[in-house]
Amino acid sequence: MSELRVPLERLQRPEPLRNWTADFDASLLRDGDGPLQVGDVSVKAGNSVRVELILDQVREGVVATGVISTTWNGDCSRCLRPVEGMATTEVEELFEEHPREGESYPLHQEFIDLEPMVRDAILLELPVGVVRCVLTEECSDMSPEYSGDTQEEADSGASPAADPRWAPLQALVFEEEEDHRDT
Ligand SMILES: [Zn+2]
Repeated sequence: MSELRVPLERLQRPEPLRNWTADFDASLLRDGDGPLQVGDVSVKAGNSVRVELILDQVREGVVATGVISTTWNGDCSRCLRPVEGMATTEVEELFEEHPREGESYPLHQEFIDLEPMVRDAILLELPVGVVRCVLTEECSDMSPEYSGDTQEEADSGASPAADPRWAPLQALVFEEEEDHRDT
């Protein structure tokens, strides 16, 4: 856990060491018994987490400012292929002796434990709801309107195969129209 525990002694030196950069495995972050997860998107063990912070001693305790980033994994909601994405978030949080729920994090006597802050920051940054791959045009270009059309086709009993076959053609026609408009 050393990557996530910052000794306060660093800040109490005549020339404080205010920078704290760490790379560690996502398995150090747990949400209950499992990995960090929002819906079908999770940060699995083996993914690396990067923390780049500047720590400042203030009257109330210690303020951590910086950037936290990691990769997440999920499944495309349309074709179910695996999707990987990057979650990067900025933080500015206070660690104090008597932390206030949802406001600040605990300041221990000799260290601060970054784990709760890093966990909260990543959970807030994970995509909520639908994720799509960009491997096929059907997945990356499908607009909400278009998905409505396919729903009608499905309801009217049209062949399910019509959807993936038509999508590239529609994209092609759309591009041609755009070219025409430019000239
Ligand atoms: Zn897909």
